Amino acid sequence: MKKHNFYAGPSILPQYTIDKTIEGIQNFADTGLSVLEISHRSKEFVAVMEEAQQLFKELLNIPDEYSVLFLQGGASTQFAMIPFNLLGKKAAYLDTGAWSSKAIKEAKGFGEVEVVASSKDKGYNYIPKNFEIPVDADYFHITTNNTIAGTEIKFDMDSPIPLVADMSSDIFSRPVNISKYALIYGGAQKNLGPAGATFVIIKNDILGKVNRHIPTMLNYKTHIDKGSMFNTPPVLAVFSALQTLKWLKANGGVEAAQKRNVEKAEILYDEIDRNKLFSAVVPAEEDRSLMNITFVMNQNFKEHETAFLDFVAQRGIVGIKGHRSVGGFRASTYNALPKESVEVLVKAMQDFEKTIG
Ligand SMILES: *Cc1c(COP(=O)(O)O)cnc(C)c1O
Repeated sequence: MKKHNFYAGPSILPQYTIDKTIEGIQNFADTGLSVLEISHRSKEFVAVMEEAQQLFKELLNIPDEYSVLFLQGGASTQFAMIPFNLLGKKAAYLDTGAWSSKAIKEAKGFGEVEVVASSKDKGYNYIPKNFEIPVDADYFHITTNNTIAGTEIKFDMDSPIPLVADMSSDIFSRPVNISKYALIYGGAQKNLGPAGATFVIIKNDILGKVNRHIPTMLNYKTHIDKGSMFNTPPVLAVFSALQTLKWLKANGGVEAAQKRNVEKAEILYDEIDRNKLFSAVVPAEEDRSLMNITFVMNQNFKEHETAFLDFVAQRGIVGIKGHRSVGGFRASTYNALPKESVEVLVKAMQDFEKTIG
């Protein structure tokens, strides 16, 4: 049966990426060797790294004064690496969910942290508005897409101080005005490639402002100076991510991806709002994520939750069980998810509603 993959991460990748990755594992760049068993210093792999960085820059229109890095340790390591490198005295954070909170917790080990606003009071179901960013902080950290609660900051915010963004789950889902950010980072495993690579887009001149000793591997300068090749990079993850970037380029880039994402999200939110069994977790339309669509079963139908999961499973729908902290359902509609999968889910929601009567 055809599967409709709504997992939040690791998550659906383009078939092109899967096919090309298999090819690379079997015979990488006509070397007769696997990409798994060839030196990262070989000319063939150096070309992969350079093309991945170049396509990253091209697709997101990244200015020359930024570097693109592929590191390891996931977005979670960045939660510490960012304050390690950038927090002199004080940093400001916006608390919009579980991932933001984890970033805040890590930063507190390096200096003062001012949380400018939080949506924790309502289970993180909205994006705080009208907060003030302190001008005496070293940077302001936001999580643009809140993978768990299903909210998203869908625009590029103005900040009087360097803006740092966790874009783990919405990178490449829309055009981004990179020049508004000092640093953008994320795990690759949501919208880009397999787990194992962490991307960092960093403005080169934001470094060198803290006095502490930074271990070599945790120092961004190490990786900028060596073009992300200081030590062995996550070769397979980078190779695979490159295939996704090629796929994205061939399919119209981030502008076209955004159009498709808006369309998919509209189809699903419309059904959630219409169907008497379900409610969206995020009430305000402007805060609703286009990548992770969270919804619950209304109170008087709650006992049908498991039956609904079984019902959709029979149609090949996988990965829509909500995160344990939110409950209900979460449909992740990343770039690689076809509109057809959303239509199959919507039809299942309509048919299930009929069985309930
Ligand atoms: C998944 C996710 C993370 C954690 O990423 P890891 O690579 O597993 O450390 C952090 N932030 C956001 C927004 C995420 O979606």
